[in-house]
Amino acid sequence: MADILRAVKGMNDILPSGVPRTDKLPDSQLWQWFEDTVRSVLGRYGYQNLLTPIVEPTALFVRGLGEVTDIVEKEMYSFVDSMNGDKLTLRPEATAGIVRAMIEHNALYNGPLRLWTVGPMFRHERPQKGRYRQFHQLDVEALGYPGPDVDAEMILMARTLWRELGLVEGRHVRLELNSLGQPEERRAHREALVRHFEQHADTLDADAKRRLHSNPLRILDTKNPHMQAVVENAPRLIDFLGAESLAHFDAVRGVLDAAGLEYRVNTRLVRGMDYYNLTVFEWVTDQLGSQGTVCGGGRYDGLIEQLGGKPAPAVGFGLGIERLLLLIQELGLPVPSRAPQIYAVIPSPAAVPKAMATLESLRAAGVSVLMNAGGGNMKAQFKRADASGARYALIFGDDEVARGEVALKDLRDPAAAQRSLPLGSVAAWAADLRNA
Ligand code: ATP
Ligand code: MG
Repeated sequence: MADILRAVKGMNDILPSGVPRTDKLPDSQLWQWFEDTVRSVLGRYGYQNLLTPIVEPTALFVRGLGEVTDIVEKEMYSFVDSMNGDKLTLRPEATAGIVRAMIEHNALYNGPLRLWTVGPMFRHERPQKGRYRQFHQLDVEALGYPGPDVDAEMILMARTLWRELGLVEGRHVRLELNSLGQPEERRAHREALVRHFEQHADTLDADAKRRLHSNPLRILDTKNPHMQAVVENAPRLIDFLGAESLAHFDAVRGVLDAAGLEYRVNTRLVRGMDYYNLTVFEWVTDQLGSQGTVCGGGRYDGLIEQLGGKPAPAVGFGLGIERLLLLIQELGLPVPSRAPQIYAVIPSPAAVPKAMATLESLRAAGVSVLMNAGGGNMKAQFKRADASGARYALIFGDDEVARGEVALKDLRDPAAAQRSLPLGSVAAWAADLRNA
């Protein structure tokens, strides 16, 4: 037998439930429930779906994210198109592509837009639980709104999503909030920060030394335990914010307070991309080890102009779907069943045409039916019916079919009597089964 080919390291298959796998990655049932919930919740807030390409020009991310970011420095899957020499990159995040598309189609001409997309992102990182090389994000963006109202709306919308997925805010996921102010405020803070780190140069690691002059704010994001003290005592950006920035921040907080949403102001929260300003936030959990951020975002008022568009404010967030589903799985939260309502047992091949015609009518009436395919005796078919999780078996026995009937057996209630239903009037009893 030939050698089998395997998926690329750090890139995973999402499989139906019941397929045994050694890793603990969520199955497609959980995945679909998440996507259904997203559609329902975001639809209620008036956000519209869009899709953009997975491959974009490399320059888009270099210009959009900033040259001295983890992503652009070491995480991008970039390659040269061998047909024409174009420099391309598998998207590491969704915001830059969405902004590119909005500029290209002059999409803000008729006013601001609330948007969302779901899809794969690619980052060359060390694979571990909750961190992959291909992962999936729900990405939400509101373009053309200065805030602070939409900033707060977006955070509250995430809370609604948690609630509908069974997650409790404050217990399973917590909100951390900060304001990064405006560029000139960040400049003043940056100068103070460089002075502080220069005074403690001996405690800085190689990464921090390299960033000291290129991107000192990112030093605050360090995971190095030896640098915690020097980071702790560093000047805080919030102390450099002017009245306008503080008012914006207070207004976001005012909405969250009124909505009864608890949060922690984390003055060290800076986020990985250079494009953020004013509001930034993360939803974090303690249950996933060091991969604890399930959702992060903020305002990026300068990005549209930076990518060549007419200046317009914007705010957005990215949610890591694998991390969120791992969390739901780990907490053992109930997930709605996708089992069929009916399993069709068809003991003799002669009954198949009549049975299948009936099943078509049932499905047209909204009933979910899993047909026994591939024959097998009555015992084997009932075993499969049980394993399918269906509520009822619909049995197309030869005698019943000859009488113009079919038998309905409740698989979950052994005490319930079997019922005969007329094949001539499917619609009349389909309605009952649909609600089973
Ligand atoms: P981290 O600090 O964990 O690397 P990040 O700040 O790089 O996260 P963002 O760019 O803000 O992440 O992406 C938004 C969300 O996407 C993250 O909060 C996380 O849930 C998810 N995410 C980011 N990178 C990965 C990855 N390699 N694998 C799985 N999920 C990821
Ligand atoms: Mg990262």
